Amino acid sequence: MKNIPVLMYHHVKPNKDMVSITPKNFEEQISTLNKMKFHFYSIDEFIDVINGTAKIKKGVLITFDDGFVDNWIWAYPILKKYNAKATIFITPKRMPKHGIRDDSFKPAPHRSFARLPDISQEFISLEEMQLMSELIDFQSHTMTHLRCTQQTNQTKAEIKESKLYIEQLTNKPCKAFAWPYGDNNQEDLQYLAKQGYQAIFTIKTGTYRYNSNPLDIKRIEMKDKGKNFIKSRMFLYTTPILSQLYAFIKGKI
Ligand SMILES: [Zn+2]
Repeated sequence: MKNIPVLMYHHVKPNKDMVSITPKNFEEQISTLNKMKFHFYSIDEFIDVINGTAKIKKGVLITFDDGFVDNWIWAYPILKKYNAKATIFITPKRMPKHGIRDDSFKPAPHRSFARLPDISQEFISLEEMQLMSELIDFQSHTMTHLRCTQQTNQTKAEIKESKLYIEQLTNKPCKAFAWPYGDNNQEDLQYLAKQGYQAIFTIKTGTYRYNSNPLDIKRIEMKDKGKNFIKSRMFLYTTPILSQLYAFIKGKI
């Protein structure tokens, strides 16, 4: 095995929405991976592979961007059922301190977020975060979800602050970062590395291949589909020649 597919999720909730998957399809995907004997990597195990201190094995890294409250309500119980570790990239400034929501919670449609008077209710609370912390790793997606295009002092401040803040919350080193909107630039990338981030995730399509650049990790966007989808994606992205060919063809279209 030379590849670790990195799966990218956003919302997991019953109602159809942008970048969203239903709990039913999510469970089908996770249970299929479990049946296929994929190891569910924690972020530390994944970074050990990057650093060459652990051997690569058949597995996936499950990631969620943004830390929407639906991850706690609908995704977490499924992850727990299959003992599947996952990593959530959070934006601490948008998270409420208190509150433990259940499936009676009605998430606002994604498109309406910009109009909400208080967006924080749509995100995992610090209390919910603590409850998930045995299985879930929390890593940085900046403090406020700002676009990292302008190489401003604000970007640098958030890169630094989110790392310290998350380390304080989790009592573990924060080693990974995902660019909000996928927007990135060289100067901030160098700053991230200088701050001690060891794995930087993009929204570019592809798989992590052993020895590929850990500061430019590609991911696979997960669709609202079930068993056949995950099976075909895993076949594609764990067969090196196929995934290279697929990336090549995608780049051409
Ligand atoms: Zn995001």
